Amino acid sequence: MRRVSIFGATGSIGQNTIDLIARAPDEYDVVALTGASNVAQLAADARRLGAELAVTADEARLPELRDALAGTGIEAAAGQAALEEAADRPTDWCMSAIVGAAGLVPGLRALRHGGTLALANKESLVCAGPLLMAEARAHGARVLPVDSEHSAVFQALADNDPGAVEKIVITASGGGLRDWPLDRLAQATVEEAGSHPNWDMGQRITIDSASMFNKAMELIETHEYFGTPPGGIEAVIHPQSIVHALVQFRDGALMAHLGAPDMRHAIGFALHWPERRDLPVDRVDLTALGSLEFSAPDPARYPALDLARAVIAGGGLRGAAFNAAKEAALDLFIGGEIAFTDMAPRVEATLNGLERRGCLDADRITLDMVLDTDRVARALTHAP
Ligand code: NAD
Ligand code: MG
Repeated sequence: MRRVSIFGATGSIGQNTIDLIARAPDEYDVVALTGASNVAQLAADARRLGAELAVTADEARLPELRDALAGTGIEAAAGQAALEEAADRPTDWCMSAIVGAAGLVPGLRALRHGGTLALANKESLVCAGPLLMAEARAHGARVLPVDSEHSAVFQALADNDPGAVEKIVITASGGGLRDWPLDRLAQATVEEAGSHPNWDMGQRITIDSASMFNKAMELIETHEYFGTPPGGIEAVIHPQSIVHALVQFRDGALMAHLGAPDMRHAIGFALHWPERRDLPVDRVDLTALGSLEFSAPDPARYPALDLARAVIAGGGLRGAAFNAAKEAALDLFIGGEIAFTDMAPRVEATLNGLERRGCLDADRITLDMVLDTDRVARALTHAP
């Protein structure tokens, strides 16, 4: 039996993870499931999987969670300290699928007992990649990517010499507003930006796909996972979302990873690695598809990409500032306070402001430095 925990169990990635685990109940011993507002779902899954512990991030919902778990023997807890305590319970495999920088500390704590951290929470890599990887090394833990592009790169690299990599190409669907005229983008509503042609995901990452802040985060993620310099990472638009990434080697060979747009592939790959097991995902029918299209993203439509390249080149605390500013700008857009096209200029202004104050340079980042930068960057984005 493998001991597993799922952080962010009630979200899109969490539910897909539960779908896979629930298909083989005899193989997994579920330790902790965590969620936030959706306590009914959290309790139902904890019962179904026989979890030891269910934690909601929202302290006000603890009585509701306790009621829903009454008589089951499943522990109920709430709040940040409870999330951290849940991460301290030893597991062989832990899914990090909380959305946002809130996933950083539980992920760092889960790494302390070795085992595998399946990392969907890309924000933790963007804001503290070197810290997270150092923690994994210090404890003999393994971080496996649960982002379709990075799982694809990991698979395309396989046993090849990492030193022979010339370029990594990640694909982007272009999001829900890809074909809109540029001059209409400023009017995009939260609903329009929050609907995706190919992927069924949480609201925040769906809007980030439309603005390509998601792809910008993924450029940084690529750098943190694979050590690729900014000039060696490319994002291309591929509307079908069938090719997830390609690795180009020094001899000119391009190894591509293709698959249906279903996150259960990347989740299942990380769950079963180094084995490959049957997964309930659609198979790609190449002749039914007929053709695959690729094009270069327009920097005027997707300014987030250039911001990310500057973050990679500068390093230090720029990732922490970028992630926090992006989260704050997204909050402002969702709250109706700024337009869709105001998000990138807001993030850029925050980065420039902190750069001028000399706040972003650091040879070695610590958790306190990351959390401080996160707080300051959010405040500055809300009140420039
Ligand atoms: P989601 O919004 O569907 O779910 C988020 C989860 O985090 C929920 O369980 C929610 O209860 C919990 N949560 C929210 N705020 C929290 C807080 N402050 N503290 C603790 N828990 C909190 O999001 P998602 O789409 O499942 O994405 C989860 C993560 O996976 C994100 O980092 C996202 O970028 C990444 N990711 C998602 C996809 C996808 O297909 N959905 C693909 C690649 C990467
Ligand atoms: Mg992705």
